[in-house]
Amino acid sequence: MSDYAIVENGLVIDPEKGRIEKQDIGIIDGKLAAIEEVLAKGENIQRIDAYGCYVAPGFIDLHVHVFKDVTYLGIEADRVGVEQGVTTIVDAGSAGYSNYGVFKENVVSKSKTEVLCFLNISHVGLSTWKSELADPSNLMTVEEAADIFAREPNLVGFKARMSSSVVKEQGIAPLKHARMLANAIDVPIMVHIGNPPPYLQEVFPLLRKGDIVTHAFHGKKHGILNEDRTLIPEAEDALARGVLFDVGHGTSSFSFDTIRKFKERYSTPFSISTDIYLGNYQKPVGSLMLTMSKFMQLGFSLEEVVQAVTIRAAQRIGLTEQGTLKSGTRADLTIFRIVEEPTTLTDSEGVSILADRVLQPKMTIKDGRVV
Ligand SMILES: [Zn+2]
Repeated sequence: MSDYAIVENGLVIDPEKGRIEKQDIGIIDGKLAAIEEVLAKGENIQRIDAYGCYVAPGFIDLHVHVFKDVTYLGIEADRVGVEQGVTTIVDAGSAGYSNYGVFKENVVSKSKTEVLCFLNISHVGLSTWKSELADPSNLMTVEEAADIFAREPNLVGFKARMSSSVVKEQGIAPLKHARMLANAIDVPIMVHIGNPPPYLQEVFPLLRKGDIVTHAFHGKKHGILNEDRTLIPEAEDALARGVLFDVGHGTSSFSFDTIRKFKERYSTPFSISTDIYLGNYQKPVGSLMLTMSKFMQLGFSLEEVVQAVTIRAAQRIGLTEQGTLKSGTRADLTIFRIVEEPTTLTDSEGVSILADRVLQPKMTIKDGRVV
């Protein structure tokens, strides 16, 4: 394959401009480039036809579980990554300080998909897949965190799961520990919310600008909404401070009803992620594109759902080379179609909607090459 390419005839979605227009995209040596620069190279320009398709910066899924074999529900990275039009995935806490080395060797270095990681604040990560924060002796120390973040470039933050089944008697203490680690290293925390305790009234005040709340729109009791459909004050304050809500669909963490109510009153942008793993990749999650399709059926625009998996996700974890179409950045592109056929889509509460159109991956370009 030549080192020069033009993706042509597609409808290009630029998430930074919030616009869709017919446009060609140039690629030189794995980076995005102006068309004139590519044409100036003369011969051997590869032409990639995107007719009838949309072209966007490579999609980013902020919440997946791809620690295959070591965590029993871990799914193969490329299966939920490049094969589904997702060029960057972030594993959310499957690995901890003790087993990140294995994760790096087995997953990060063996995948075509860019694999990043929110490191679990528990040494063992999700290798036991339950109650990893119930024993305080499992918590990573500041020294360990400083050591591993200094040498591992694919670590983007910490993961702390704040559900009663995970923390047991520890309550809010593990999140206070995560706060201390994140302050020391200066990276975001991704906090999973679920069944209390701890309650969101204790969780949200510990979060700062830059942090992420995954499973934000779950349908369980004690969520982000009051009975009158307004946000609980702690959630409203967190959003005002610059905390990001993230979908993290998962097996039991996304409710059409919650997102509908949120959308009625609030327009604060959020990120869309799947929390995909072996137990939910068929149902109810499907894929990142099917998750995005659910939001479109609920009234969000194509531009909005693409922003939620590109620029917004990239900026939150400090990626400057992804999520954008700026010349000179990494040529990761997702080419997809919108298929107009009635499709039943389900949330984590077992509620189904009939979508009249769904996104479908067509071609994935990673570092300038068709995968
Ligand atoms: Zn998860």
